[in-house]
Amino acid sequence: MSKQPPMPTMSSVVSHWINGKSITHPGARHQDVFNPATGQVARQVELASLQTVNEAVAAARAAFPAWADTPPIRRARIINAFLALLNARRDDLASIITQEHGKVFTDAQGEVTRGVEIVEFACGIPQLLKTDFTDQVSTGIDNWTLRQPLGVVAGITPFNFPCMVPCWMFPMAIAAGNTFVLKPSERDPSAAIFMAELFREAGLPDGVFNVVQGDKVAVDGLLDHPDVRAVSFVGSTPIAQYIYERGAAQGKRVQALGGAKNHMVVMPDADIDQAVDGLIGAGYGSAGERCMAISVAVLVGDVADKVVPLLADRARKLKIKNGLELDAEMGPIVTRQALERIEGYIGVGVEEGASLVVDGRGYKVPGHEQGFFTGGTLFDHVKPSMRIYKEEIFGPVLSCVRVRDFAEAVDLINAHEYGNGVSCYTRDGNIAREFGRRIQVGMVGINVPIPVPMAWHGFGGWKRSLFGDMHAYGEEGVRFYTKQKSIMQRWPETIGKGAEFAMPTAK
Ligand code: NAD
Repeated sequence: MSKQPPMPTMSSVVSHWINGKSITHPGARHQDVFNPATGQVARQVELASLQTVNEAVAAARAAFPAWADTPPIRRARIINAFLALLNARRDDLASIITQEHGKVFTDAQGEVTRGVEIVEFACGIPQLLKTDFTDQVSTGIDNWTLRQPLGVVAGITPFNFPCMVPCWMFPMAIAAGNTFVLKPSERDPSAAIFMAELFREAGLPDGVFNVVQGDKVAVDGLLDHPDVRAVSFVGSTPIAQYIYERGAAQGKRVQALGGAKNHMVVMPDADIDQAVDGLIGAGYGSAGERCMAISVAVLVGDVADKVVPLLADRARKLKIKNGLELDAEMGPIVTRQALERIEGYIGVGVEEGASLVVDGRGYKVPGHEQGFFTGGTLFDHVKPSMRIYKEEIFGPVLSCVRVRDFAEAVDLINAHEYGNGVSCYTRDGNIAREFGRRIQVGMVGINVPIPVPMAWHGFGGWKRSLFGDMHAYGEEGVRFYTKQKSIMQRWPETIGKGAEFAMPTAK
């Protein structure tokens, strides 16, 4: 068990970070930031005006030429120094996350680790930017490829991973020679400022990494700004589609990762205890507020009669507490509105005729009666036509769908509009192989409940879980944040005589 969470000092007003400095503006708009475990307002976040967005983009634009010209190995050294500081302060960062998001401290530590891994990957940028060279493509002519940074790029991130998801973006973009403006979620804005301060301490030049806090005003300001060359977005599907369309319409490169409804298939031959452990952790971990959470158990053949009672027993016994308590398994929901949405869906499921096996509504944690808590909820006999099956609930609500066989499980999943993550529990190698090949989902786990790819593999869903061509981080991340240039070269003594009017071919 880790030591008690530290309690780092957090300012009462969360600022922007522009040109290497913390910035606030008198008279600006503000929004409350809650501690979800207590339900109290913990601080306020300043919401950027268009002018603040313009200041941040201007700072990033001014910093771009020198940063782009800095040799990759020197950029990597600064990122390496940032990595050391992140590692030294990882528990402070995890504590900040728990206090604003609500997830349990050990889970926040895990989130920080997954963010740190991308920073580790970004340290390899000199190797990642190495390109192709062809000697003698034609007599006396060589041809090679460069990957050059885009300029100012922006990241817009969701509340549910305030460290990890920004780390999918800014370390990669900055390592590749871009300058960056991050617009984190207004619900848990402090982690971004904490990371910006560490990056400055690591020696990052002013203006290379900027943070604007805010809402739609800030997002639209970034989407419409002519100096922003690319936008990375992670959040819900309707907003992802909006970001993709508005950004692309203005000629920007956009990757927009959206929502999810992740299924886990349990085959009759699966190890039932392992499958139940997988469903409980992936269904209720982080109170189901993960884009890779499992929200649907697809129970094949007679397996449901074994699995549902075990799930019910475990769901009732979840240790639900303030996430700063080290034995907590599930913390509160991020906001009261989100709690009401989740509990509203439970009512919808009952009206639709699903069997409510465990009802988490109205859960109270002693001493935290105002906290945004709900219990773990379990539905059985959920049908594909029901809203609780079709829509993303984004809370600790697990729906069991019973199917006859493997083919029906695959068809069910392939018909769903989302395709972020999926898992299959089986002991049959051929079933596992067929599942991996036939399933229309971007990230697949075989006996792995939450298959979040490692830093060098890249993250992305299919269908309405991702708008754009490129996945986040990994080598696709390097491609997204650079543009290809092809150079052909020959030197005067080999130049032929006179202009050529036919298409050049190898001679
Ligand atoms: P959200 O879409 O509400 O917000 C994401 C970002 O968009 C925030 O920075 C927010 O300020 C901004 N935003 C919100 N409404 C906007 C609007 N109308 N116009 C412009 N900008 C707007 O998402 P959330 O509630 O913060 O996060 C949860 C969602 O994110 C879930 O749907 C989850 O599945 C998804 N998510 C997806 C992934 C993935 O990798 N696919 C990862 C994490 C979260």
